[in-house]
Amino acid sequence: MRLKNVPGSKEYIAASDFVIHDETEKKGKIGEYFKKDQPLRIEIGMGKGQFIYETASRNPDINYIGIEKYSSVLLRAIQKMEEKPLDNLIFIRMDAEEITDVFMDGEVDRIYLNFSDPWPKDRHAKRRLESRQFLERYSKILKDGGLIEFKTDNNDLFDFALEEVEAAGWKMLECTRDLHSDARLCEGNIMTEYEAKFSAAGNPINKYIIQKP
Ligand code: SAM
Repeated sequence: MRLKNVPGSKEYIAASDFVIHDETEKKGKIGEYFKKDQPLRIEIGMGKGQFIYETASRNPDINYIGIEKYSSVLLRAIQKMEEKPLDNLIFIRMDAEEITDVFMDGEVDRIYLNFSDPWPKDRHAKRRLESRQFLERYSKILKDGGLIEFKTDNNDLFDFALEEVEAAGWKMLECTRDLHSDARLCEGNIMTEYEAKFSAAGNPINKYIIQKP
């Protein structure tokens, strides 16, 4: 998702209390941003934040961080928080490639990847958030037994992601090619913005849940 550049979004984000600033200097101190000391879950590439906001509001006993690369998109998530703030949600504007500079080893309980950019060219495969290079980064910051939940309507990206899971030796806990027809896996499902759009267009939604080896 890349909105047109919104003038002033960088300055707006720089002044927001809903965003962790200078995040690489905050490594080891992220917990200080939350009122309660409780498990930490993150969404990488959260877009406008529909999923992470709803997930955080339904689960006050878990802390959440929404990560997004682009200011113009993150701005929308901040505006939602300004309307109705949540104690257990905060955002970081960053490229996920730097994730191990921000989180300590084993600090994160679960990672959500929703409708990640597909990067269709082979030479860009390592930019995909489900690549083995990213799985290695996630493996560092996830606690033992930590999970990744990934949803996408993009079958090529999902095929690639399954190959990467196997190559990296992660454990596949759940896997479906049609989440919305699977009553058990879909129970309590929170739709992302892209999920609502693509499922309304008739696209089946793929989902896996994997566990750190
Ligand atoms: N997750 C949302 C959803 O399902 O509605 C948004 C999906 S959108 C296709 C992908 C988002 O991931 C974009 O907002 C993009 O800017 C962000 N993104 C892509 N690569 C990223 C990276 N390396 N680090 C942080 N965010 C990234």
